Amino acid sequence: MKFRLLIWGCWSLFNLSSFATTHSKGLSKDLPQKLQRLKRVKLDGHLDSLKESEKKVVLKLIEASKLLDQIYLRQVWEGNPNLEENLSKDKTKQGTMLHLLFKQNAGPWSRLDHDEAFIPNVPAPKPKGAGFYPLDMTTAEFETWIKGLSEKERASATGFFSVIRRDQNGKLISIPYSEAYQDFLQPAAKLLEEAANLTVDSSLKKYLVSRAAAFRSDNYYDSDVAWMELDSKIEPTMGPYETYEDALFNYKAAFESFITLRSDQETESLKKFSSHLQEIEDRLPLEEKYKNKKLGANSPIRVVDQIFTSGEARRGVATAAFNLPNDEKVIREKGSKRVMLKNVQQSKFENVLIPISKVALSQKSQSEVAFEPFFTHILMHELVHGLGPHQITKSEKETTVRMELKDLYSAIEEAKADITGLFAMNYLISKNIIDKSLSKSMYTTFLASCFRSVRFGINEAHGKGIALQFNYLVDQGAFVAEPDGTFSVDFSKVEKAVENLAREILTIQAEGSYEKAKALLERYALIRPSMKQVLDKLNRIPVDIQPYYPTAGES
Ligand code: ZN
Repeated sequence: MKFRLLIWGCWSLFNLSSFATTHSKGLSKDLPQKLQRLKRVKLDGHLDSLKESEKKVVLKLIEASKLLDQIYLRQVWEGNPNLEENLSKDKTKQGTMLHLLFKQNAGPWSRLDHDEAFIPNVPAPKPKGAGFYPLDMTTAEFETWIKGLSEKERASATGFFSVIRRDQNGKLISIPYSEAYQDFLQPAAKLLEEAANLTVDSSLKKYLVSRAAAFRSDNYYDSDVAWMELDSKIEPTMGPYETYEDALFNYKAAFESFITLRSDQETESLKKFSSHLQEIEDRLPLEEKYKNKKLGANSPIRVVDQIFTSGEARRGVATAAFNLPNDEKVIREKGSKRVMLKNVQQSKFENVLIPISKVALSQKSQSEVAFEPFFTHILMHELVHGLGPHQITKSEKETTVRMELKDLYSAIEEAKADITGLFAMNYLISKNIIDKSLSKSMYTTFLASCFRSVRFGINEAHGKGIALQFNYLVDQGAFVAEPDGTFSVDFSKVEKAVENLAREILTIQAEGSYEKAKALLERYALIRPSMKQVLDKLNRIPVDIQPYYPTAGES
């Protein structure tokens, strides 16, 4: 699963039509505006910390990643390679811009504009089955076809790692990735093995060797397990993972690659915070009987810096965090791992959140917005998802918060993680575990990030959860609307207000009360006029970033 737009939480590209671009058909006249929505930024790797042999490992992995990029291009649409070749020949200003936009989107459809085509004479709308199925295949034809298959064949046809094509007679057939994309997967596997020979890290070696084998066999299980067990400075994630691109059935996995380096400093912070989780649970603003006296183990979190991406990881809005693998069998046996891309989040912070804070916050508050509280809050948000009520008893029956809150669960749970995250930070500051210098800036930074998150609307869980928190804190006098339309924090009130909201949300979860959750959201999860006024002024600020990588020779 990927988390793109909202930094944490499920990514979703809803409501982007609210941005200051006009929608046109065919060749866009508004190319410059379209391009500017993603600000081009440099993402540097800190390869200096690596031994010479490990630097060579990174370069091999980048080379292999570029091959996976070629596969992804074909997975989006079979016509992509030809179209890109033609675009690269057009050296006019318009041609250059079109090529850039093509690269942003990995195809001729704009992902920020509901997949509207920006180049004429391409399939429109964007084919739902992307390049995974024949363009003329209907869902009915596919479903009739798989009914006639053996169980094993059906598993392959509906599996992650095959494409559907037609044979000479026009009959549907399933072709495994290892065969369909062998021109790229064979050399990529070889590069992974060469990298495996160069590294001295045994867990990395194991992952690379097993992943190379998977590229040839389509059996990803062993290498998924090896990825879960990776304990290496170089942390690559390469292969077919997400099924978003297959909008027809969500069966087929798209290729991508993240080459990253583990952040040792943040890994230490995480360890430190994790060791205090039970203590925080015991102090939650919640009736004693609802508290969990013995917390279970959290799934692992890695904090890394990204030095190269390709394929699905390199199109549209930049991924800020991901949770993998998606294979249920591996998750059952080994759990899943959350990877936070720290330098990506820092770049989003600098290029999107800081400009937003300059519009939304009072002059005095602007200087209090900082990356350290921002990122620490993200880590706390992730950790405190594991705190508070999950398994509950309602009317003497064992149930879960998720079951009881149904469609409202995500908005409430995300709001819980934010607000309880602030509560937890405040506690850790009081214990000198988090630096005192964050005691004010964490609230101001959260205030600024509220505007970033609701900018995309409140039709979706995270926007809703943020609007709820923002308005609640305004009503408690913790967030203050200034006469000039900007906002600031009242530090004499914010601590208590955060605790009050945390108590309300945690209690609703403990009681499993759908009615109370609904009432809370109906009252607060709105965009009120004072917030709308600020949002209207954010049109010129980029939506997101588009990284390029000097480590891979890009400029
Ligand atoms: Zn979350």
